[in-house]
Amino acid sequence: MRLSKLFTKTLREAPADEASKNAQFLIRGGFISKVMAGVYEYMPLGWRVLDKINNIIREEMNAVGGQELFMSVFQNKDIWSATERWDGAKEVMYQFKDSSGKELGLGFTHEEPLTAAAQHFISSYKDLPKAVYQIQTKFRREERAKSGLLRGREFLMKDLYSFHADQEDLDRYYEEVAVAYDKIFKRVGVKALRTSASGGLFSKYSDEFQVLADVGEDLIYVCSECGYAENKEIHAEGGSKCPKCGHGFTEEKSIEVGNIFKLGTKFSSALGLDFTDEAGAKKPVIMASYGIGPGRLMATAVEVSNDERGIIWPETIAPYRVHLVLLDEQGARSKEQEVANKIYEDLSKKGIDVLYDDRQDKTAGEKFADADLLGCPVRLVVSKRTLEKDQVEIKMRNKKEVAFASLKDLLSQLP
Ligand code: ATP
Ligand code: MG
Repeated sequence: MRLSKLFTKTLREAPADEASKNAQFLIRGGFISKVMAGVYEYMPLGWRVLDKINNIIREEMNAVGGQELFMSVFQNKDIWSATERWDGAKEVMYQFKDSSGKELGLGFTHEEPLTAAAQHFISSYKDLPKAVYQIQTKFRREERAKSGLLRGREFLMKDLYSFHADQEDLDRYYEEVAVAYDKIFKRVGVKALRTSASGGLFSKYSDEFQVLADVGEDLIYVCSECGYAENKEIHAEGGSKCPKCGHGFTEEKSIEVGNIFKLGTKFSSALGLDFTDEAGAKKPVIMASYGIGPGRLMATAVEVSNDERGIIWPETIAPYRVHLVLLDEQGARSKEQEVANKIYEDLSKKGIDVLYDDRQDKTAGEKFADADLLGCPVRLVVSKRTLEKDQVEIKMRNKKEVAFASLKDLLSQLP
């Protein structure tokens, strides 16, 4: 992509009411655009990052047998009444009447509608286990929507739901998904701690995946010896010593990027999702749900990987791998431009994503500032000075040193 053609431009300043680094850098970089508190639009650069995150999530969900589907955002009151959650959901769910007077809600989670849909397809032990997921927009009445993409009122969620015949099978699959979650966060480039939490409807515990960060709204307790982590609720119940090894805890601020829950039969019993077991007995299906916030994850990557000049994207989710800067004092048809054009074409042909700063109306200082703000892993510079030695300058966004490669060796020397 040529920067001269990109839909967005970098901005000098982010809105005054945006305090978080992710909002500041993502808005200034033109990754996202703010609509209102807690509501953001993904611009082309941001959409590329999000798409990479979503694809990593998809690959790992598919690898544990998850089948992707897409549910509706409108949800019927009836199914929420059946699980006795409609009234309680008011605080978080946008609920309203349509023109015929029928009450509806905008989905903030999908246990009810998915359980209702599964009734058409699950009736026997032979139909189990099953797992389906979606990456879809959720709406929530979030009162503290002040941290950019970390807490949206309209936001994306990956939600996986699994259906099982017995507890043993659910326990097995739950662990499989926990491992898949570890892989996802590692691939995205953030260090997430599996953290014991309360709130499982079925078992005493659920698990959260927490990334240490000062901007985080959660408090977790991490064992300084074995790495075991637990959230505030569990910590209040337990003692001040790690239950695994007896060592002390340190208190840390963190961001919850995902969580996994055993739901048991709460939804299946209420909505009549039964199956017939091998002996012919009718039983409610046992369920679990597993969430990740892709937008929150993108914001988390920014929060944990930046410097005063901008974002330092992990390689796997960077909008472009290479940021190619052309510095040509003579303007159009300079040798520098000819060489940079050729590099852009050659790298693109090799399938390497390149953001090419070919703009004619920007100074070197402005171009370097934008490269740092946008945060692509590799910066290449072609200038009169580098061409004197038939070279290209190479600098990694996360390092200080600058290196040079000869034009003919560039491809093989590209980090
Ligand atoms: P929190 O305690 O931070 O409000 P939650 O417990 O309500 O999170 P879940 O309902 O389990 O979160 O949602 C699953 C995942 O969706 C979370 O782990 C998080 O990554 C993401 N998520 C939840 N709420 C938001 C939000 N308002 N904006 C962006 N992502 C969110
Ligand atoms: Mg919440």
